[in-house]
Amino acid sequence: MANKRPDPPEVDRAAASRAAVAARRARAAVKAQVASGERSALEVLTAAVNDRDGVEGGLRTTELLTSIPAIGPTKMHRIMNDLGISPIKRLGGLGVHQRERLRDYLATRATTRRGTGLSSLVVLAGPTAVGKGTVAGYIRENYPNVLLSVSATTRKPRKGEVEGVSYYFVDDAEFDRMIAADELLEWAVVHNASRYGTPRRPVDEAITAGKSVLLEIDLQGARAVRRAMPEARLVFLLPPSWEEMVRRLIGRDTEDSTEQARRLETAKLELAAQAEFDYRVVNADAGEAAREVVDLMEFHGALARP
Ligand code: 5GP
Repeated sequence: MANKRPDPPEVDRAAASRAAVAARRARAAVKAQVASGERSALEVLTAAVNDRDGVEGGLRTTELLTSIPAIGPTKMHRIMNDLGISPIKRLGGLGVHQRERLRDYLATRATTRRGTGLSSLVVLAGPTAVGKGTVAGYIRENYPNVLLSVSATTRKPRKGEVEGVSYYFVDDAEFDRMIAADELLEWAVVHNASRYGTPRRPVDEAITAGKSVLLEIDLQGARAVRRAMPEARLVFLLPPSWEEMVRRLIGRDTEDSTEQARRLETAKLELAAQAEFDYRVVNADAGEAAREVVDLMEFHGALARP
């Protein structure tokens, strides 16, 4: 009868568990370095390739990615999927091609960020009734590091709107003065009714201070920003489906059928503009859409994540 294998001596087990704790701590330190920007993710990958059994080699790819500011779990899973890397893979265990794909991804990210400096200006536009306001409001509430630009408008305040938070409500003369003094980054007449414009100074100041700025404006405004600041990223918010869009546009409406047809026609034209945009985000859930928009800002500092 074969003898049962003897348990390792007590002293070995204690040593092994101490070593495991030390390795976990060392990996946590690497993640903290990446999160603070002290070390780039690319440097960590290089260290892992040079020493597969070292601390960096023991780090999971998923952990490396989520240590990067602005990569949350959703984006991380998308990237892993795109790169064809299984979530259990440690950096030291990546195949040659996986390593190359990850390196390319991290290198492009680093260049984009360095190349564009502090250009984390994102414009959120999209068809009427797609929920831009809700997504922007969610970002204001949950991501305090992102400056949500407050527009000036000549329309009258609605119930519950707050001066300086919802808009700066101004009269025609003041709007004329702002245009003449070149105080607006862009402006447009929206819905053939009132004028809306983005005050230039808060945007410039925030970008200079390295903050991310979000403009929630109409399509004409998005085009104007593209001309004025080509480094801006344009995000087009889409409804989950055309049917859902129709429901949101005319669902609870009491307008007559001519007005409804006119709105749908406008929505079709607006949807056609998506080709001009850098990114498309589907608004099925405002919180998820908000996170995707913030991810696109590739913010340098620590973001408050909900
Ligand atoms: P509302 O009157 O419902 O608040 O906004 C009407 C439309 O004006 C929305 O589509 C919104 O995106 C757009 N808008 C708000 N502020 C600005 C702005 O500063 N510039 C431009 N071009 N459009 C804006």
